[in-house]
This record gives sequence, C-alpha cells and structure tokens, in this order.
Amino acid sequence: MCTTSLTTCEWRKVFYEKMEVAKPADSWELIMDPNLKLNELAPGWKQYLEQHASGRFHCSWCWHTWQSTHVVILFHMYLDREQRAGSVRMRVFKQLCHECGTARLDESSMLEENIESLVDNLITSLREQCYEEDGGQYRIHVASRPDAGPHRSEFCEACQEGVVHWKPSEKLLEEEATTCTFSGASKPSAQEGSGYSFFSLRWCLFGAALCLLIVYLQFSFRSSAFL
Ligand SMILES: [Zn+2]
Ligand SMILES: [Zn+2]
Repeated sequence: MCTTSLTTCEWRKVFYEKMEVAKPADSWELIMDPNLKLNELAPGWKQYLEQHASGRFHCSWCWHTWQSTHVVILFHMYLDREQRAGSVRMRVFKQLCHECGTARLDESSMLEENIESLVDNLITSLREQCYEEDGGQYRIHVASRPDAGPHRSEFCEACQEGVVHWKPSEKLLEEEATTCTFSGASKPSAQEGSGYSFFSLRWCLFGAALCLLIVYLQFSFRSSAFL
C-alpha cells in the first residue's frame, strides 16, 4: 500500500493514528512536498516550522551516516471546516554529506519515537491554528548531545534557503537582547554591521588616495623646482 519511502510511511502512520484520536470527526491527509517554501502560503493555509528536530541522515553515495539535532521541518496545513477535511504538506530540509560533500540530498530517516513527538508538536500547532484551541505544550527537542558538534550551515538546505534556525548560543543571547529593544532587529543589525565595515574600508581607500596625491604633488613640485 505504501510505495514511498519508509520514513514517509512512518510519518503517515503516526499522524493518522494520532489525528484519529485528536479529531475523530475530521479526515486529514499528510503529503510530502519537497517544493514547500517558507512563508509562501496559499490563502487560508497555516504554517508551522519545526526547527530543532533531531534526525539521522544517510548518504547513498559513500554510506556515511550522521546525526543532526538541527533538522528543519516545514509544515503547511489547511482545514476545510465544511467538508470536515484537512490537509498537511510537509518538507524535511535535507543536509549535504559532510564526508564526501556530494550534492546528493537524501531523505533523512528518523527514528519512530522521534516522529511521535514531532507529530505531537504538529497536532498542537494544528489545534491552535486550524481549530483555534489551546493546543497545550510543545515538546522541546533541543537535546544538545555533546557528540553532535556545531551545525554546519554550508551543508544544510534550510540554511542555504535562508531559514534562520541555528546560531551559536552567545550570538543567540545577543540577538535576544537586541530584539527586546528594537523588535525584529536581527537582520538589520547584521546589515548595519556589514555597512559599517564597508564605510571604514571606503575611508581607508580615501586616506590612501590622499597620501598618494600628496606624494605625487611633492614629486612634481620638486621636479619642477629643479628644472
Ligand atoms: Zn557521502
Ligand atoms: Zn541549517
């Protein structure tokens, strides 16, 4: 019955079982959509972004496997209240192989217990956004394993598409502090930073040009004085 990958089957199985309990009167479907884009929503659709899922990746080229605690999963969801039917589209952002650097982006395979808690979070968001209910608590996945190491954005499809989901801890605190004073200042402050260095570079070039001009004028003055 399930011709797609094992992970997709697991996701569907867990989602349908849990939705059957959560909303028995409504029928929901779950579709994998690798073309889903952040903040690009059709009218009436809602969005939920899971930013710190942990998952295991597998490279079909060199057989390397790795664990990431910064897997990004994007969900778009829609409920047709009259038809009592809902639809969820999901995209698991992929990661490039760290070992061979191949551009093959394989589907991440996740352990079942992990999918369970991720589906719980999805249903919490569904309750809040599609049913306007109090969805309850979200499960936190930021299980910072000591062996996991830092996130490497150059290998991450989400980072490459501009989904801001990971920063070093100190930087995160810094940004939290700035967002308190100026709302949503994370991006402009970064631009200001680059703008400042751009201006200082300009001033350096201006100074260098001025020095060259003085040297040139001195030379031409001296040579004209000797003539
Ligand atoms: Zn590889
Ligand atoms: Zn990333």
